[in-house]
Amino acid sequence: MAPLSHGNDRTYTEYDLMKYKLTNDALGIALWDMDVKVEDPTSTENPVTWSQELRELLGFTDEKDFPNTITALAERFHPEDSEKAFTAFAAHFIDRSGKTPYDIEYRLMHKEGTYRWYRGFGTTLRDAQGIPLRVAGAVMDIDEIKHAQSEKNEAIDTMKTVLDGLEAIIYVTDPVTGEILFTNESMRKQYGIDGSLDGHICYKVLQVGMEEKCTFCPCYQLDQEPDSVIVWETTDAITQRRHRKTDCYIPWPGRKIAHLQHAVDITDLVEAKEAIEERGKMLEILNDTAVMFLSQSVGVFEETMTSGMKLLCDAMTIDRVSVWRNAKILGTLHTSQIYRWDRESGGTTTPTPGLEDVTYQDLAPRWEELLAGGDVVNGPSRLLPEAAMLQSFGVVSAFVVPVFINQAFWGFVLFEDRISERYFSAESIDIMRSAAFLCANTVILNENHERDRLLTEKVKSALLETQDANEAKDIFLSRMSHEMLTPMNAITGMSQIMSIIGVPDKLRDSHKQIETASRQLLDLINDLLDMTGRGHGSFALMKAPFNFYSMVENIVEVISPAINEKRQTLDLHVDLTTPRTLIGDERRLIQVINNLLLNANKFSPEESLIVLSFTNESFPENLEEDGIVYLKVKVKDEGIGISEEQQEEIFKLFEQVDGGLTRKIGGVGLGLPLSEHIVTLMGGRIWLESEPGKGSTFTFSCKLKKG
Ligand code: ADP
Repeated sequence: MAPLSHGNDRTYTEYDLMKYKLTNDALGIALWDMDVKVEDPTSTENPVTWSQELRELLGFTDEKDFPNTITALAERFHPEDSEKAFTAFAAHFIDRSGKTPYDIEYRLMHKEGTYRWYRGFGTTLRDAQGIPLRVAGAVMDIDEIKHAQSEKNEAIDTMKTVLDGLEAIIYVTDPVTGEILFTNESMRKQYGIDGSLDGHICYKVLQVGMEEKCTFCPCYQLDQEPDSVIVWETTDAITQRRHRKTDCYIPWPGRKIAHLQHAVDITDLVEAKEAIEERGKMLEILNDTAVMFLSQSVGVFEETMTSGMKLLCDAMTIDRVSVWRNAKILGTLHTSQIYRWDRESGGTTTPTPGLEDVTYQDLAPRWEELLAGGDVVNGPSRLLPEAAMLQSFGVVSAFVVPVFINQAFWGFVLFEDRISERYFSAESIDIMRSAAFLCANTVILNENHERDRLLTEKVKSALLETQDANEAKDIFLSRMSHEMLTPMNAITGMSQIMSIIGVPDKLRDSHKQIETASRQLLDLINDLLDMTGRGHGSFALMKAPFNFYSMVENIVEVISPAINEKRQTLDLHVDLTTPRTLIGDERRLIQVINNLLLNANKFSPEESLIVLSFTNESFPENLEEDGIVYLKVKVKDEGIGISEEQQEEIFKLFEQVDGGLTRKIGGVGLGLPLSEHIVTLMGGRIWLESEPGKGSTFTFSCKLKKG
C-alpha cells in the first residue's frame, strides 16, 4: 500500500495504516492530511490529501469527484458554519504554542445535497519554534448523535416551558457544585429576581450568609439514595414564606445528575389552617363557657361569670367586658351598664358608677342607630368618633356588639383591649357576637333567678306569717273555749239540777230555753275545741262497743223537739241487717248525724219531710273476715238546697252559704267541716246532692267493727 502522503521525513507505516483503518471502521472517522509549505492556513499552496474514507463519508467515490484541494471541502460547508470552521482551524494553525485545539462541529453538504453534522478535529506537527510542519485532521459523522441531542434539548426546552408555567417554585442545581442549572418563573418572581440565576451557586444566592453547601440540603440524603424523593417543610430564609418541598435527582444534559427542588408555597394554607384551628379553639371555649353559663346554679352567678368570662377573654385577649341594657325613658333610648368583668380587679365587679340610664346621645351618639342596625364598632379607640369617651375609660381598642332579644335591640356588650391598638379579626367577630349574647343572657338569667328567689322568700315569709296567725288563732280559740267550758258546764249542770228538783210552771218555758240555749252553746264550744284539736291535743276516736239500735232511738229522741216545733215529719229507715253491737266512737257518730239532722231541720220549711236512713253496706265475706261493718247514713230534706258552687265550699271551716240567713237560723259553719273530719277518721267519706229550692241529701259512710 502506498503511503498517503510524503512530507518532510514522516510517512505512515503499514502498522499506522492498520490502526487507522480500525479506527475508521469502528468510529466512522475519516482522515485528511496537509503538508505545510507556507504558514497560512488558507493557502492553496499547502497540498492536502483527503482519504478515500473521507470522500465516501461525503458520498463521493474518487479523486475526480472530490479532488485533493481545500476548496473541494470548503465549498461543502453550510453557509452558517464555514466561517466558524475556518476561524477555528486558523486559530489552531497559527498558535505556535500548540495550545489552541481544533475540534468543532459543523455541517457539510453530502453529495446527495443534504447537510449532515460532522465533527472536525486535528493536530499539527510543529518544529522547535512552533512553526507548523504538517497537519493531520479527521472528520467524524455525528449527524445521528446531533439529532438525538437536539431532540433531547427540545425535550428539555419543553420541560422548562412547562416548569415555567407552574405555580410551584422549581429549580435545578448541580448537587456537587451547587451551581444553579435552571429556575422557573415562579421561583424568580418569588425571590424578586429579574434575570436568570443560572450559573450562580445556590447557597450563595438563595440563603443568607451561607458560604458552604447547606447542612440541611436534601442532596446529602439523595447522594445515599439517588432514587428517593424527599418531602419536607421549611420557612424560606429570604422570602420568609413557608414552603413544602419535594426533592429528587433527575438526569440533566451535560451533567451526570441534577438536583431538582419543587416547592409549594403553603404560607396561606398554614395561616388559614391556623386561623381555622384558632376559630375552632375559640368555638370550643365559647361552647365550654356557654355550658358553664347555662348550667350555672342559682347563687353561684359571680363565680361562674368570673371563670367563664376569663376563659373567653383569655382566648380573645380582652381585658374588660361590660354588658349594657337599654330602656326607653320618655321616648328617648337610654342605656345602663348592668354587668362588668375586669381582668385587673379579678373578675366580676360592680358596674361603673354613674353609668345608669345614660342616653346614647351622651354616651356615643352614632351607636344607637349603628347598633340597632346590627352593626358593630371595631378598632383602636383613637381612630373612632367616640375616641374621647372611650379613652376617658381607658379603652385602647373597642369592640361593641349589639344584643338582640326577641328581635328587639336589647343593649350591647363592650369588649375592651386596654393595652394594645387593634382591630378584632373577622374570624372572631361571629364568636364575639355569640359571646355577647351569652353574657347578656346569663346576666338576665341571673336577674330572673334573683327575682324568683326574692319572690319565693316573700311568699315564704307571708306563708309563715299566715301560719303563725293561724296558730295564734287556734290557741286563742282553744283557750277561750276552755274558759267558756267551765261556766257552761255550771249552767247546764244547774239547769239539769233544776229539772230534777222540779221547775215551777210559770218558769218552765224559761227553763226550757235556758236548757236548749246552754246545750247549743256547749255543743258549739265542744265543736270549737274539736276543731282546734282539743287544745292541741289529739283528736283520737274512742273505740267502745255500743248498741246501734239504742243509738238510733237516742238520735230520734234528741231531734224530735225541733222537728215537732216546725211540724216536720221525720221518716226513719233502718237496715235491720246491721249488727246490734258495734264498736266505735258512738258520741262522734251521733255528733255527725245530729249535725246533719239539725241542718235539715234548720234549712227546711215547716211541715216538710226529712228522711233519715241507715244502710248496712257490709258484704258477708268482709264481715266474716275482719268483722268490719260498712255503715251508710243518709239525711234527705226538702229545704232551700245548696247551689253547685256552694257545695264545694261548705266543707271548709267557718263557711256559710248565706251569712244573713244563717244569722237568722244560727250556726257558725263549723258542723260540716267537723263532720267530714270525723267521717274521714272513721274510714269513710261525706258527700251531698242538692238542688237549690228542692232540697239536699247528705250521705256519709263509715267503718265500724262488729261487736
Ligand atoms: P252551721 O250549720 O253551724 O252554719 P254547717 O257546717 O253545719 O254549719 O253548715 C254550713 C252551711 O251549709 C250552713 O250555714 C248552710 O248555709 C249550709 N247547709 C248545711 N246543711 C244544709 C241543708 N240541709 N240545706 C241547706 N243548706 C245547708
